[in-house]
Amino acid sequence: MQFDIVTIFPRMIEAGLAEGILARAIQRDLFRVRVRDLRDFTDDRHRTVDDVPYGGGPGMVLKPEPLFRAVDAIRHDAGEPQAVVLVSPHGRQFTQAEAARLASLDRVTILCGRYEGIDDRVREGLATEELSIGDYVLSGGELPALVIIDAVARLLPGVVGDEDSVAGDSFSRGLLDFPHFTRPAEYKDLKVPDVLVSGHHGEIRKWRKRRALALTLSRRPELLAGAELDMEEQEILRELMEEQKGAAHGRD
Ligand code: SAH
Repeated sequence: MQFDIVTIFPRMIEAGLAEGILARAIQRDLFRVRVRDLRDFTDDRHRTVDDVPYGGGPGMVLKPEPLFRAVDAIRHDAGEPQAVVLVSPHGRQFTQAEAARLASLDRVTILCGRYEGIDDRVREGLATEELSIGDYVLSGGELPALVIIDAVARLLPGVVGDEDSVAGDSFSRGLLDFPHFTRPAEYKDLKVPDVLVSGHHGEIRKWRKRRALALTLSRRPELLAGAELDMEEQEILRELMEEQKGAAHGRD
């Protein structure tokens, strides 16, 4: 899989990919990221990428031509990208399901906005989709692009050493992950749950399922509607919901 990122701050993207499992995966050529400096696609001496907004008002707007040319260059080098993503607060919310969808593609281009935003003709005539990483406004699209690359890359074969770890991550099956503990078994009066120390694998598996379900039920119940649960989990969920009802009655 190859990502092509168009930005006025290439070093932000490079820095975000320089550490940890993403850096290792890139070294092992499990996926590629090619960063394009938007200024390389300008045609004036000052390498101008922005201009004042039509209609007046504060701030600057990214000009359309350099972005169209950058995507032309990407097409020329490696063929038509399967998705040209514009990161924007107006986009559809980026989720684990969106990450899985992008992970099934071979070539994804991401366009990073700056300033007040991008000339809207880029959305209309160049981008194939718009994605937002959440309901807040950042100063540029570089962090959103890194968020997308990170979430997608984790799903590519071999990037995360142990694939079970990805399968158990929060959201992958519509559940939050269970809580994790490591040594020491007791620290400042805070104890690791006995069952985890017991070495009893059946009990541990059941405890983890129960905690993942209880956590999801109390914090993000809306996720359960789309969750893929096995028989044991369905049974545990029924019990938890009964307990919840019982507790609510107790309060009446
Ligand atoms: N004036 C715009 C915000 C521009 S922020 C508005 O109010 O909608 C500048 C750039 O940062 C955007 O063009 C976009 O590329 C990026 N950006 C900011 N917040 C984002 C978010 N939540 N998700 C994705 N991209 C975002």
